[in-house]
Amino acid sequence: MNPNYLRFWGVRGSHAAPHASHIGTGGNTSCVEIQAAGHLLVCDGGTGLIPLGERLAAQSELRELLVIFTHYHWDHICGLPFFVPAFLPDWKIRFFGPGQTAADINRHISNQMKAPYFPVETETWMADIEYLTPAAAGLQHGPMHIRYQSVHHPGVTYGYRITIGTHSIVYASDNEVDYLSSSIARRASEFTPDETVEMRDIADEERRADLDFVRGADILIHDAQYTRADYERKRGWGHSCYIDTVNFAIDAGVKTLYLFHHDPSYDDEQVAAIHRESLKIIHDRNATLNCKVAREGMVVEF
Ligand SMILES: [Zn+2]
Ligand SMILES: [Zn+2]
Repeated sequence: MNPNYLRFWGVRGSHAAPHASHIGTGGNTSCVEIQAAGHLLVCDGGTGLIPLGERLAAQSELRELLVIFTHYHWDHICGLPFFVPAFLPDWKIRFFGPGQTAADINRHISNQMKAPYFPVETETWMADIEYLTPAAAGLQHGPMHIRYQSVHHPGVTYGYRITIGTHSIVYASDNEVDYLSSSIARRASEFTPDETVEMRDIADEERRADLDFVRGADILIHDAQYTRADYERKRGWGHSCYIDTVNFAIDAGVKTLYLFHHDPSYDDEQVAAIHRESLKIIHDRNATLNCKVAREGMVVEF
């Protein structure tokens, strides 16, 4: 196998959905493995982290990894208490996520394992654990350079841009594309025309910054949780309608988009319908974007 690849271990949003009708897409929550030149990076620790941990414990080549969290909502951390390498003495695990200091990151990660929520605390972890200090210049992990930026989701949530040589992968599992312009449109009646113009300018500027972060990425893994109808009911919740995600990816000149963080209520047929509609948008816009559904177990070489 090519030494550089990514593998989707969990692709669901909000909560696990282990139903027969959903299993073609996958039932586990957010977890993506990226391997480059023998270095392992894990994006998020949802339930998909559990089978990844079992796989890692069963092999003997790797003993080190970095886990980066977009944020600490349950669907992104709940695999961690069952992550076998953390309990093994010969592993070195580094963690990073939103927080002002390494101690903040430690606290956010450790709290879910405190009594009465879990029987063993992170103090029982045998691995050599390190919480990374936030650095404006980003993080380096083997050949991977990792930059992060706040995205639109409740609380502080990061999107990550991972650069490996000339290749770039953007991981933004939870993000409401065009959150500001959407809220302005929704509350239009509350503003004077002057205020509306001013806010539209701010929203435009923000969209430019968001597009810049994603611009030209070879791979974009992005929140595409809702259909238009569901999005209308859930505006401001911090997730995207897939139509906005596809248009955003086209505007940013992304090469391949993976629709991600699928709503747990959508079965395989509903996810397939979202994919068909996405391909139609790309065709209608005469765009070259490659668009796929992120499915559990899928491996992408790069
Ligand atoms: Zn989520
Ligand atoms: Zn969330």
